[in-house]
Amino acid sequence: MTIKRVKFTSGLKLPENKVTEHMPVARLELPSKVILPLQQHFGQQCNLLVKKGEKVRTGQLIADSDSFISAPIHSTITGVVSSVFKMINPLANSIVDAAEITASEEEELDFQSVNPVLEDIRKELGSLRENGEIENYLSGKIKELFDKINSIENEEIIASIKNAGIVGLGGAAFPTHVKLRPPEDKKIDSIIINGCECEPYITADHRIMLEYGMQMLIGAYIFYKVLNPEKVYIAIEDNKEDAIINIDSLIAKSGLADNFCVVSLKSKYPMGAEKTLIKNVLKRKVPMGGLPMDVGVVVNNVGTCKAACDAILKGQPLIEKIISVTGAVANPGNFIVRIGTPVSEILKCCGEFRSEIREIILGGPMMGNDINEENFPVTKAVNCILIKKGLPRNEGNCIRCGRCVNICPMNLLPLNYVNFVKNSKFEMCKEYYISSCIECGSCAYVCPSAIPIVAYIKTGKSILAGK
Ligand code: SF4
Ligand code: SF4
Repeated sequence: MTIKRVKFTSGLKLPENKVTEHMPVARLELPSKVILPLQQHFGQQCNLLVKKGEKVRTGQLIADSDSFISAPIHSTITGVVSSVFKMINPLANSIVDAAEITASEEEELDFQSVNPVLEDIRKELGSLRENGEIENYLSGKIKELFDKINSIENEEIIASIKNAGIVGLGGAAFPTHVKLRPPEDKKIDSIIINGCECEPYITADHRIMLEYGMQMLIGAYIFYKVLNPEKVYIAIEDNKEDAIINIDSLIAKSGLADNFCVVSLKSKYPMGAEKTLIKNVLKRKVPMGGLPMDVGVVVNNVGTCKAACDAILKGQPLIEKIISVTGAVANPGNFIVRIGTPVSEILKCCGEFRSEIREIILGGPMMGNDINEENFPVTKAVNCILIKKGLPRNEGNCIRCGRCVNICPMNLLPLNYVNFVKNSKFEMCKEYYISSCIECGSCAYVCPSAIPIVAYIKTGKSILAGK
């Protein structure tokens, strides 16, 4: 038993609404087209490497950048580049270049080559169709597999993760290869694997821990091998007891109990925010404006671990991800979808809307972004499509009740940002550390005047960033 239980913490207790938590992951049909923004990550936008009219295969590199903080983009279907255009990216509040690819009938794969020591494993995995078979196969080979991974140079692993376009799949979309290259003066002694999934409705990570637990653990092992910390903590909220038990048992079966453990955390929002997580798991405080690596920690999401496993064992770039589709849809569930699939195609598979007045939110109700355009695609950062019925409440005036200040996990003064942005005092936002806001939405949730505080904060941040 390697479970450590952390009982006391602050934060919000939200209604969970996790109606899809018991629904196994299903693969959606391939889309008729995909739309791929060339910036789906934190950092520099990529440059397109293909032209309109060009044929592309699934997994083919189509956009890249020379910048260190960036992540390449791959075609997620086989087809023809049917359009190249500019689009608004509501997730980043910016205008980005994008490519549309229209599907061909036959799928052809263009995956990266893997290290020769893993070639036999790649071939065996290629012959297995069901995910349960893959999990069993990997469990049976786990010690041999770890030996093989240990024999690969760190530089090669980091390059493979970069070339696969892997970014943080918990929503931040920070390029993963950058986290694997901390500056020399930052010794990483702990990795936290984030399986909290603290937002209401979303259940994709929960299903990954139940159904893809061994693949997730192999990904975590890959990060462990590269960063060589003393300990890996797999942090899971206590409303996912089945995942806690499953991951704990996989750690024991894999012989990792000396260095890996599960941390069971109280289900409070925003437990999954990196700095909150580090405070609760390790009792360390990341300085204002600092990064987890400043306190010796790297945090990666469970979906990112699975993506790393796919990249190293199968040579599969980041072309698909598991998302929850939930709220006011007839057939909610957890689905594997190709990145770039338009929301409209996914909603068609999940049934008609139950309400004409609705909001489409990419992400959860606290941190997600409203979209007006159903043609907008699922990008690497999207973990949920939530359909909400009804109209948002009307914004009232601030009554200076202080609730937003009391709840802010970053110790900020949210009401001030509303005032500064309304009066165009953007430099004041900077002075009051607006960049430290993690956009968790707790302030807006508790505001009795229904002030969309996060929307004001996002506006302030993008004006300061010059967008
Ligand atoms: S100011 Fe930012 S970090 Fe603080 S509660 Fe609001 S959204 Fe969360
Ligand atoms: S919670 Fe809303 S009303 Fe209360 S101080 Fe903050 S912004 Fe003002």
